[in-house]
Amino acid sequence: MTIDSLITEEFRLAEPQKKALQKMGIKTAYDLLCHFPARYGDTSSIKRIEDIKKDDNAVIFGKISNLKVSKAFIKKIPMGEGILEDETGKIKIVWFHQPYLAKMIRNGQFVRVEGKVSGRKGEPYITNPKIEKVDVMPEASNSIFGSSAENHTLYPVYPESQGISSNWIYHAVQKIMARGILDGIEDIIPENILQKYNLPDIRTALIWIHAPKKEGQALAARKRFAFEEIFFIQIQKTRERKLWREKSAWKIETKQKDIADFIATLPFKPTKSQLEAIKKITLDFRRGWPMARLLEGDVGSGKTAVAAATIYSVTKNYLQTAYMCPTEILAKQQYENFIAFFRHLPIKIGLITGSEAKIFPSKTDPAKPTKISRPQLLKWISEGIVPIVIGTHALIQRSVNWKQLAFAVIDEQHRFGTFQRQKLTMSDSKMPHLLSMTATPIPRTLALTMYGDLDLTVLEGMPAGRKPIISTIVLPSGRNKTYQQIRKELDAGRQLYVICPRINEPDPDKEMAIAAKSVTAEAGRLAKEVFPQFSIAILHSKMTPAEKEKVMNDFAGGGTKILVATSVVEVGVNVPNATMIIIEGAERFGLAQLHQIRGRVIRSNHQAYCYIFTESNSQKTRERLKALTTAKNGFELAEFDLAQRGAGELYGRRQSGLSDLAMIALQNIKMVEFAREEAAKIIETDPELTSYPAIKKHIESNTQAIHFE
Ligand code: ADP
Ligand code: MG
Repeated sequence: MTIDSLITEEFRLAEPQKKALQKMGIKTAYDLLCHFPARYGDTSSIKRIEDIKKDDNAVIFGKISNLKVSKAFIKKIPMGEGILEDETGKIKIVWFHQPYLAKMIRNGQFVRVEGKVSGRKGEPYITNPKIEKVDVMPEASNSIFGSSAENHTLYPVYPESQGISSNWIYHAVQKIMARGILDGIEDIIPENILQKYNLPDIRTALIWIHAPKKEGQALAARKRFAFEEIFFIQIQKTRERKLWREKSAWKIETKQKDIADFIATLPFKPTKSQLEAIKKITLDFRRGWPMARLLEGDVGSGKTAVAAATIYSVTKNYLQTAYMCPTEILAKQQYENFIAFFRHLPIKIGLITGSEAKIFPSKTDPAKPTKISRPQLLKWISEGIVPIVIGTHALIQRSVNWKQLAFAVIDEQHRFGTFQRQKLTMSDSKMPHLLSMTATPIPRTLALTMYGDLDLTVLEGMPAGRKPIISTIVLPSGRNKTYQQIRKELDAGRQLYVICPRINEPDPDKEMAIAAKSVTAEAGRLAKEVFPQFSIAILHSKMTPAEKEKVMNDFAGGGTKILVATSVVEVGVNVPNATMIIIEGAERFGLAQLHQIRGRVIRSNHQAYCYIFTESNSQKTRERLKALTTAKNGFELAEFDLAQRGAGELYGRRQSGLSDLAMIALQNIKMVEFAREEAAKIIETDPELTSYPAIKKHIESNTQAIHFE
C-alpha cells in the first residue's frame, strides 16, 4: 500500500460504505488520512456503572436493551428510553424530545453512551446522552482504548456519514498507518518554513492528529494542517496572479481632464475615497497587463460612480466595457443609472438579459432607450459600435463577440458564486481589465485568502450628508411599541421592509421552502393583527422571476406599503421611500450580514430606521447585536463576527471553499500573513516550482482548483 492506493482496493467494502466514502470525497489512503477527527474522547472518563454517581459526566460502554418510545408522565413530552448494562450493573437512559434516538439503535447492540447522570437517590438515570454504536468494547480491545497508563487516553472521534462509522475510520486509519507508508511521505511545506514556524512535519502531524498522546499534540497537528491549507491557497493565488500579469491587456491612457469633466456632470461631489479608487483603477489601466481589482465598499458607498468614471475613460479610448450584474433586475436598474450618467454624451449603451435587448439612445426619442432584437445588438457589439453593455451572465457567453472588450466590471461579485475569470477570455488575444465590486464585508484574513489573487481597494465611509441609520434592538417586550412608531411613519407615507430569517437547514431546497413559509406566515400575521390598514406583499426565492418583478415594481411604485421577504432574496430595486426595515430573528445572523441587510434603507434623504428584533433573552446575544449600533462600518462588524463566532459559522464551505480547520486559522492574522509571505517568496524565486516537487504535484492533482472573483 502507498498513500495513493485506492481505498476500494485495500479494504473490503460493502456497497453503502463505498457510496459513503465517495460522498465524503475519500478515494485514496491519503484522503482517508486527511479525514481528521472532529474531536477526541477521553477514556479517562470511562466509568463502570457501579461507580457512577449523580451529576457525573460519564462515558459508559455497555449493551443496550428494553428500547422503547413513550410519553413522559408530566406534560406528555415524547421520549425514548432504554436500559444500559455492563458487567457491573444496569442504568436507565432517557431521551426527552428525541424519541428517534431510541429508534436508531437496536436492542442488544454495544454502545458508547456519554452524558450526565441525574435522578433521585437510588435510581440514577442518564438523560439525553450522546450515543454511538461501537463494534468493540474497550475492555475487549487494547487497540482502541487500552487501559494501561502508558497508552493514550485520547481516542479520535471522526465525522461520520451514513454507512461509515467513526469506528470504521479509526480502524482503517490505524491499518494504513501501521503499513509504514508514512515514512516516505513528501511534505508540501518546505522544511525551513516548518522550522521557522515550529510546525510538525507531515508524518508527525498525521500521527499526532490521529493518535495524540496528549492534547497539545493534536493542537499542534491541527495548526500545521490549517497552515498547510492556507499556505497552499496562497501559493495558488500568487501563481494565478503572476500568470494573469503575464497576459496582455489594452494600455488605456486616461486624461485627467476627461475624469474631471465626467465628475463635473455628477449630481454630487465624489468622496475622497471614491477619487482615490478612480485613480488606482486608471493607473492600472496604463500597465500592459490586465488589472484584477476588488472594490469593497458598504452598500451605498458609491461604487457605481467609481465604475462609471473609469468606464468613461475606456470609452474615450474607443474601447468597450461589459458590466455584469447577478440578476436581471439589477441589470435593468444599473442600465437606468448608466443612461443617467451618460445621457449628455454621444455614447451608446446596450442592455442584454435573458429576456430582452435594448439600446440607448432610441432613434425616435434620444432621451430614452428602445427595445431591439438580440441579434441586432450582438452585431453592433461585434462591430464595436456599442461601447458599454450592461447585462447578466449572458454578457460573457460565447455568443457575445466583442470587437475590443477592454474592461469587465462585475457588480455584486459575491453573488456570482465561483465566477471564473478564465471564462472572460475573449476571442482576442488581449484580456480585459477586471473590476469586481462587492458590498460583502469580510474580515481581512478571509479577503487575503479568498481574494489573494486580486488587488484590494476599500471605499471607506459614506457620501457626506447621509443621515446615519438609527438602529434599535427590540426585545419581545418592545414589539408593540415599535409597531406603533412604525405605524406613524407608514401613515406619513413611508414604506417598510420586513426580513424573515433564513432557517439553517442542510438542504437548501428545504431551507427555501421553510423560509418561504415563514415569510407567508409573518405577512399573514402582520396583515391580520398588526397593520391591517396597509397593503402587504411577499417576496421569496420560490417565486418566479416574473412574480418577483411584479412585486418589486408594485413596492417601488408605492402601491404596496410593506414588503415581507427572506434575507436571501435581494430586494433588487432601490426604493428611496422605504425607510424602515424590521429584521426578525436577528440572533441567527452574523453582524456583517445584518449590516448588509439594513443597507437597503439607507438610500434615502429621509431618516432611516432599522429594528433588530430578537427573541433571544441571552445577555451575550444582546451585547453582540449592540455592536450594530456602535460600529463604524461593515468591515469592523466582520472582524467582530470573526473574533466572536469564528469564520466557519459565518462563511460556509460552499462560499469560501475552505475547510473548517482553515476557517479557524483565519482568526489568526499572523498565520495568514506568514503563509502569504512565504508563498510570495516561493513564487517569486521559483515560479515553475522546480525545487518544490511536492507543491507542484499537489497543484497538479488539485484539478478543481478554486477560483474566486
Ligand atoms: P453601492 O456602493 O451600494 O453600489 P451606489 O453606487 O448605488 O452604492 O450609490 C448609492 C447612492 O449614493 C446612489 O444614489 C448614488 O448616486 C449616491 N452617491 C454616490 N456617491 C455619492 C457622493 N459622493 N455623494 C453623494 N451621493 C453619492
Ligand atoms: Mg451597487
